[in-house]
Amino acid sequence: MNEKMMRDLSEAYGVSGFETEIKDVIRRYADNHYDELREDSLGNLIFKIGEGDKKILIESHMDEVGLIVKYIDDNGFVYVSPLGGLDAHTLLNQRFKLITSKGKRLWAVSGSKAIHLQEDGEDEKLKIKDMFLDFGVKNKEELQKLGVNIGEVLSYDAPFMVFGNGKYATGKALDNRTGCYTSMEIMRKVYKSKELKKRYTFFFAFTTQEEIGLKGARVAAFKEEIDFALVLDTSPAGDTPGIEKKVSELMLGKGVVIDYVQAEGRGLIMRKEHLEEIKKIFDKNKIPYQVEIGTGGVSDAAIIYITKSGIPTVGLGIAVRYLHTPVEVMHIEDLDNLVKGSLSLIESGFF
Ligand SMILES: [Zn+2]
Repeated sequence: MNEKMMRDLSEAYGVSGFETEIKDVIRRYADNHYDELREDSLGNLIFKIGEGDKKILIESHMDEVGLIVKYIDDNGFVYVSPLGGLDAHTLLNQRFKLITSKGKRLWAVSGSKAIHLQEDGEDEKLKIKDMFLDFGVKNKEELQKLGVNIGEVLSYDAPFMVFGNGKYATGKALDNRTGCYTSMEIMRKVYKSKELKKRYTFFFAFTTQEEIGLKGARVAAFKEEIDFALVLDTSPAGDTPGIEKKVSELMLGKGVVIDYVQAEGRGLIMRKEHLEEIKKIFDKNKIPYQVEIGTGGVSDAAIIYITKSGIPTVGLGIAVRYLHTPVEVMHIEDLDNLVKGSLSLIESGFF
């Protein structure tokens, strides 16, 4: 793993619909390893490489879950609405980052009543609408002077860190900056291959607004006549206390997740023959993998594969613990295997 790149991607600010800083990071790492770049009306970044007849879309959403300012009280406490699937319990007493419309960086913490002041059972009732953010100001006027008004957006503020035995890493937005990381690694490799650029035209799409309804991908997949799509995203790991194997068998360190069926079939259903062929290619290249039959949650693959007259689509990713929290956990070897596995599919002519 290129730790510096993964850290920069994870720590970048980029809440759904407000993917500002993350775009700069992606542009910086793309560093001229592409033929054309275009940004569409939804803010998707689409890098084009090659001139082959077959058009391949490699897609990863770059947005992350966050909060949007809804109301500010006279004392300068801020009330918010969620952008994306958030659990009130994971939001409490966290640190958040806000980049104002004018580019100013601010920090806030989500407050709560100290335990000393709580009555019995009070903590069980927490709802996002009752949660408030403390920006370290005296009143509303001071906060507005800093540039915080209704409509400003907050992301988690959490460091990316390799920890434990050195094979695990934690940070915010591993969903889906691990997908962006993989896409970037593939892009840089493909750009150097004359043969692949002759065989394919690649569109590397870093898309917006996945967490609030798969929106960027829908638009990104529409413009070109795509022959095949590879969607890179995370899946919820089931290897922590309290989750039964029959609910999720996905484990960290067990390899690439092949996202075969999503949300009991309401999301992507990959073609059976694609699954079998991927397994064969992965076996041959010694890429460990696990097959996901998901019960909840869909990715951009769910929308891309029914775009236009249908686009053959494969979903790959890694398993991540504690999704949509500031302390998501991944296994570094899974990420390395996702890069290797994706490249093995491209090089073997699977697409
Ligand atoms: Zn995701």
